[in-house]
Amino acid sequence: MENASLSDPVYYQDLGHGITCIDTMLQRRGLAACYLLEHQGMAGFIDTGTNNSVPILLEVLRRKGIAPDAVAYVMPTHVHLDHAGGAGGLMQQFPNASLIVHPRGARHMIDPAKLEAGSLAVYGEEEFGKMFGRLTAVDADRIQIAEDGFELDFNGRRLVFLDTPGHARHHYVVYDEFSRGLFTGDTFGASYPELNYGRARFVFPPTTPIQFDPLAWQSSLERLMTLDPQRVFVTHFGMHEEIPAMKALLLQSIQDHADTAEDLAQVPDRSERIARSLLQGSIDYLLDAQCGVDVDTIRSLIGRDMELNAQGLDHWLSTLQAHSSGP
Ligand SMILES: [Zn+2]
Repeated sequence: MENASLSDPVYYQDLGHGITCIDTMLQRRGLAACYLLEHQGMAGFIDTGTNNSVPILLEVLRRKGIAPDAVAYVMPTHVHLDHAGGAGGLMQQFPNASLIVHPRGARHMIDPAKLEAGSLAVYGEEEFGKMFGRLTAVDADRIQIAEDGFELDFNGRRLVFLDTPGHARHHYVVYDEFSRGLFTGDTFGASYPELNYGRARFVFPPTTPIQFDPLAWQSSLERLMTLDPQRVFVTHFGMHEEIPAMKALLLQSIQDHADTAEDLAQVPDRSERIARSLLQGSIDYLLDAQCGVDVDTIRSLIGRDMELNAQGLDHWLSTLQAHSSGP
């Protein structure tokens, strides 16, 4: 089932295997998703959207006839606010739910002040307020830590949590044995539907500040491939089933991002120069692939992403330089 009316502020799509993709409506349609998992009367969310997304998720539950007390787990893949910003607000609505979180993310869910400050530094006050809203803390006794290899019995459906650094050090990916699918957060990159109409596929790594690590990311991807996934559910955006091709493109794109940053490491205004170079490279690739989308649309879809990517790469270069000049 898919409700496709543009006037309906709630947009979701059933993907089979008891999995529903919900648009969390961050800035526009098709930018950020989360996933509702249903199995034998149990429900859970993987990623949450922002605090502003909470009413949307509750409305989807209502339309599907799922009671809030059937929600057993809230599972943010990592604690960036487009993935975990709604976690505290949701936990208030679901009396029976546990929050499953990466060991490095737990303290930020219990006390979100530092998380808010970090995002404020990246987005600025105005954009932050519009995009994310305020955060709600989660009681420590409702949190379960998902160490690498942690398993959850989701009413007879096995979920395995894997530590996947690269985009962030507080990132897990959930392997769902039933669908042979991976809920990948940002680890399988971002790939927007609008830029996947043509022959080629377009996927990029969100190198968002401040923990981009290209080598760790590449090995996280290799490790995920050993599970032979049949589909990936990415937060930005939707289900993808051409896994080996997508992984190869993403590996290349991670390398290209790192190379672009290193090539421009010494120029003045390097963050701006990196952003421009990444955007132009993406535009050239997409036009060459006959993506069927004009340059202005490409800019509006990924221009801001490339600025954020450049900020993350700028930070990454600083850490490399600090290492090489350090004691
Ligand atoms: Zn992220």
